[in-house]
Amino acid sequence: MQNLSAFKEELTSPKNIVITTHHKPDADALGSSLGLAGYLAKTGHSVKVIVPTDYPKFLSWMSGNDDVIVFSENRQEESADLVKAADLIFCLDFSSLHRINELGELVRSSSAKKVLIDHHLEPEDFADYVLWSTAAAATAELVHQLINDLGDGMLIDENISESLYAGIMTDTGNFKHPNTTKNIFMVCADLIDKGADTSKVAKLIYDTNSVDRVKFLGYALNEKLKILPEYNTAYFAISAEELKRFNSKTGDTEGLVNYALSIEGIKFAAVIIDRTEAIKMSFRSTGDFSVNEFARENFSGGGHKNASGGISHETLEATVEKFERLLELNKEKLSNGIKTLV
Ligand code: 5GP
Ligand code: MN
Repeated sequence: MQNLSAFKEELTSPKNIVITTHHKPDADALGSSLGLAGYLAKTGHSVKVIVPTDYPKFLSWMSGNDDVIVFSENRQEESADLVKAADLIFCLDFSSLHRINELGELVRSSSAKKVLIDHHLEPEDFADYVLWSTAAAATAELVHQLINDLGDGMLIDENISESLYAGIMTDTGNFKHPNTTKNIFMVCADLIDKGADTSKVAKLIYDTNSVDRVKFLGYALNEKLKILPEYNTAYFAISAEELKRFNSKTGDTEGLVNYALSIEGIKFAAVIIDRTEAIKMSFRSTGDFSVNEFARENFSGGGHKNASGGISHETLEATVEKFERLLELNKEKLSNGIKTLV
């Protein structure tokens, strides 16, 4: 953070603080928010975490979960009041205010000082203090850095360390992605020193599936995986009826896209899901094909070079058609420097 000493000054007296994070929070969004909230509460501030929508049940073990305000669950008025009364608003794990839905305009028009902590590409210019690095694997890594830069590393306890560790574990794809740097292992070593039980966290996140979720995965792999060898691409398109049939809950489709990407030779993977209110898409790539650009240019989305998401307001069928047409337009990039599967 460039103006760290001014930021430190902001925190010298007790403040009303709101922390918010993106639509459908994942482990990094929620973990970095609750980790930061735990730290700020310890230093005497009044802290509220407000999230735009609900999030998967496999994140509910995090310390502070019970006090999280879910804006979309009839908490709009309360959230607006808290945002209005805030001295400081932290925006974590998103780079543009439209990612927090209606909360975005409330935050924009609030007189509070805004702090952006994020690792996504192309951040919007709205914050007074910015800790932003696309080199960071996770927002949780940046929160760990900030607490240490403020000289408070010793305040990281077991609860804070486990929330931050969850964000790092998932955003590195279990330490598999190229963002798994030496610094990541140093940060994790410190989190273990501070009490994080890494095996417990992995179990809570990955091994608490419902039977429905596992059966849905089997169905999707067997019946719904479409492979297009000429574009080194594999994708799943899932209808609203299929979600209903498997009693799908928030988070149940998380990770599905990785199965498509795990196939040898596949460079681009997608999951296209009819969420009724809109079609939501998850994109992943390996190598040079930028799914951030792909999502930004074609599906009002964004994210990182190798992991992004977007949205469509057409039908599932029309969205899939558009997606396949775009593959043809991107054929050269998708086969760039590599032999296609066919
Ligand atoms: P996921 O596919 O796991 O939902 O998201 C992958 C990455 O893309 C995450 O970093 C997420 O924040 C970002 N992302 C997902 N959906 C959207 C979207 O609709 N708009 C933008 N700007 N980013 C998104
Ligand atoms: Mn993240």
